[in-house]
Amino acid sequence: MVPGRDASAQAAGPARWSPDSWQQREALQQPHYDDADELARAGAHLAQLPPLVTSWEVLALKQAIAEAQDGDRFLLQGGDCAESFADCTSPVISNRLKVLLQMSLVLVHGLKKPVLRVGRFAGQYAKPRSTDTETRDGLTLPSFRGDVVNSPDFTAEARRPDPQRLIQAHAHSALTMNFVRALIDGGFADLHHPEYWDLAWVEHSPLAAEYRQMVAGIGDSLRFMETLAGPIAGFSRVDFFTSHEALLLHYEQALTRQVPRHPGWFNLSTHFPWIGMRTAALDGAHVEYFRGIRNPIAVKVGPTVTPEQLLPLIDALNPDDEPGRLTLIHRMGNAKIGAALPSLLEAVRREGRRVLWVADPMHGNTESTSNGHKTRRFDNIRGELDQAFDIHAAAGTRLGGVHLELTGEDVTECMGGARDLSETDLDRAYKSMVDPRLNYEQSLELAMLIVRKSVG
Ligand code: PEP
Ligand code: MN
Repeated sequence: MVPGRDASAQAAGPARWSPDSWQQREALQQPHYDDADELARAGAHLAQLPPLVTSWEVLALKQAIAEAQDGDRFLLQGGDCAESFADCTSPVISNRLKVLLQMSLVLVHGLKKPVLRVGRFAGQYAKPRSTDTETRDGLTLPSFRGDVVNSPDFTAEARRPDPQRLIQAHAHSALTMNFVRALIDGGFADLHHPEYWDLAWVEHSPLAAEYRQMVAGIGDSLRFMETLAGPIAGFSRVDFFTSHEALLLHYEQALTRQVPRHPGWFNLSTHFPWIGMRTAALDGAHVEYFRGIRNPIAVKVGPTVTPEQLLPLIDALNPDDEPGRLTLIHRMGNAKIGAALPSLLEAVRREGRRVLWVADPMHGNTESTSNGHKTRRFDNIRGELDQAFDIHAAAGTRLGGVHLELTGEDVTECMGGARDLSETDLDRAYKSMVDPRLNYEQSLELAMLIVRKSVG
């Protein structure tokens, strides 16, 4: 409860807010739909469909994030840059889950604290773009903004923002969610059976061998503890939460709901929506939308953000300093984090604001190769994460999580890592439609780095 406000005021949400009040503000990164009636009909249809998550789950995650803020949990958030409808398949979904589960096992074992697992999936279908249009051979068409908006093929028909895709995105999110929930409820995530998470194609990886050795050790200690104490409930089932960038506000609005048992408004398209770096303006539509929902939320913070900009943003999004409410994901770049991060940490600490600090070492380290691939050097990703731990330690703040773009598919999108992938390797298996993702080995290597940095 917010002190001084009665239950009916809370049920209405914050002052002068409604699920569509964002429409009075400037909304960046939205597609231009050419038929307003068609958009309104799709929105109305979506608003009738069942939600993808419940308020109970959303509040449970908020509590868990509050515990992470206190240092009692570590947040692992990861998945594709963008999901695609075509990749809504059994192997893609289960392989991604396998990588996240293996990473979380490394983290649980090394950090000796519970890991909060949040997927960048079941709704990560909208992408911000640097330009509204794209020109090829004299033809200019709308940019591809993710499968919830249009299609990547370079034709007028494919690039037309299609409101029906709002419904399709909800359906694909529900299919993904259903499969993830069924896998987890069926015992796929049981820590007693890490062999379920083996990926067929990594058999010969040097890191896989190191990982297996660690798993064998964990199995031994698990059996030992359970011989003494009986079955330990937390080990047979792990929770997974979902997150996505809540970019496309017509979609988010249609899934913003009130529920009988909890006052206020919830975004029930995902547990944990975040505001992207390009749409985090204090007076913009996204901040207006986010301030009124009760979910735990995150904001991406880039290298140009100043303390004078960050503190008012925290006030707008978490005026009552509610535990678990606000996560700040810094994404500075390996070359910039040293100059950009300390003053932000210092300001937030000085003001005594309660946030969870999370590092995204991916988005400040994107570059293009001479043959046109968007890539990231593993050394820069690892370097930024490494520095992030040191900078937090020096500032007296805590790095409580990581945010990564990764996949369980055998891709070559980021250079370097255990197999030292080079620019020419990128041609072999570059599959991302948007940002380059870590593959299995690169992901595990980062998990091991986090353990080394955290336990010294
Ligand atoms: C992303 O997470 O895919 C993204 C676009 O990040 P950012 O907003 O930090 O640039
Ligand atoms: Mn991305």
